[in-house]
Amino acid sequence: MLKDQDRIFKNLYGEEEVSLTAALQRGDFDHTKEILSRSPDSIIDEIKVSGLRGRGGAGFSTGMKWSFAPKNSILPVYLVINADESEPGTCKDRDIIRHEPFKIIEGALIAAYAIGAKIGYIYIRGEYYNESVVLEKSIQEAYAKGFLGKNACGSGYDFDLYIHRGAGAYICGEESALLESLEGKKGMPRLKPPFPANVGLYGCPTIINNVETIAVVSTILRRGASWFSSFGRPKNSGTKIFCISGHVNKPCNVEEEMSIPLKELIEKHAGGVRGGWNNLKAVIPGGSSVPMIPKDICAEALMDFDCLREVGTGLGTAAVIVMDQSTDLVKAIARLSYFYMHESCGQCSPCREGTGWMWRMMERFAKGQGVSADIDTLWEVTKQIEGHTICALGDAAAWPIQGLIKHFRFEIEARLQTQ
Ligand code: SF4
Repeated sequence: MLKDQDRIFKNLYGEEEVSLTAALQRGDFDHTKEILSRSPDSIIDEIKVSGLRGRGGAGFSTGMKWSFAPKNSILPVYLVINADESEPGTCKDRDIIRHEPFKIIEGALIAAYAIGAKIGYIYIRGEYYNESVVLEKSIQEAYAKGFLGKNACGSGYDFDLYIHRGAGAYICGEESALLESLEGKKGMPRLKPPFPANVGLYGCPTIINNVETIAVVSTILRRGASWFSSFGRPKNSGTKIFCISGHVNKPCNVEEEMSIPLKELIEKHAGGVRGGWNNLKAVIPGGSSVPMIPKDICAEALMDFDCLREVGTGLGTAAVIVMDQSTDLVKAIARLSYFYMHESCGQCSPCREGTGWMWRMMERFAKGQGVSADIDTLWEVTKQIEGHTICALGDAAAWPIQGLIKHFRFEIEARLQTQ
């Protein structure tokens, strides 16, 4: 279990004041000028060595991503922070913004310096109105103290940070749709390549990072890459905020070591499964878009990128949705299918048409209508969507259904037979 002195987020639960004065006491903006006196390459190298992988879902190496920012670009380079947290079950960035906003601001300054950006944008989902107010106030406090703007933190580096509020579309969490939205257009994902590191915001090089990724950067640089990489298994290092919800006794957000066993995470921090471990049916371990895993796999799974991939699911946003024996899994996944259909931007046909087909088939199964062969047809439809769309929303819509059919086909069959 992670020791208190190794927690990056000291005020995750908002027990202390949020103000800059309180944040300084917690260690934020400690020797930031010294960090900024290092060369950008040495900062990027240290982040690479720390093993930090993006906390927004994809899990790409953060240091590697930063190194893609072109050196000596004649165009401005932008830093964009993705605070469009919309994945069902996920609420970690919200707590960071509410209670530890200065970690984001300091991390943004350091990341911007490392990639050569003079301007950063935080794109925050529209529903997070109160959080945007906290963030705006914190940014103003940081400006007043000289931590942002000209000669930020006395480093000689100029950096401005702005907030942009979205309008509540899930798809704007996809990085290229986010850029479109930031430019004032409809939030529709772009075809890649080119990748944002080369052609991003306003056609300029842009590095996009998740809130949690940016918020841990300053602590890594202060405590060292080897400290951060001492947690978790190789290639899965660091600490991570897990959001545990559903049928547990005490739903919570908790910062823990990566690679913690899923069972330990649920039992130690969320008060265990409602009715005890034997009452568990399945867990969606990484936000609603990853496939569920049944109880026997949950008992062995480690909460990291590689182990969860090996057991046929994913770490995603590390939002653990626990479902006990009372859960109607067919109905639950039908509801998720409705969500993805609703959030499809409609740009490519496998997703625009396919999400609707999948939802209608799931609704039929939920009512016990159809025959066994329809389950195979639905499986085939998910395979026709997966990997055939412009962005990952197609996959996100297909995977929950694949998880259901793979592990709980018998539940659908039983329902068809009783009708
Ligand atoms: Fe839009 Fe769906 Fe295509 Fe993504 S996969 S671009 S959300 S239609």
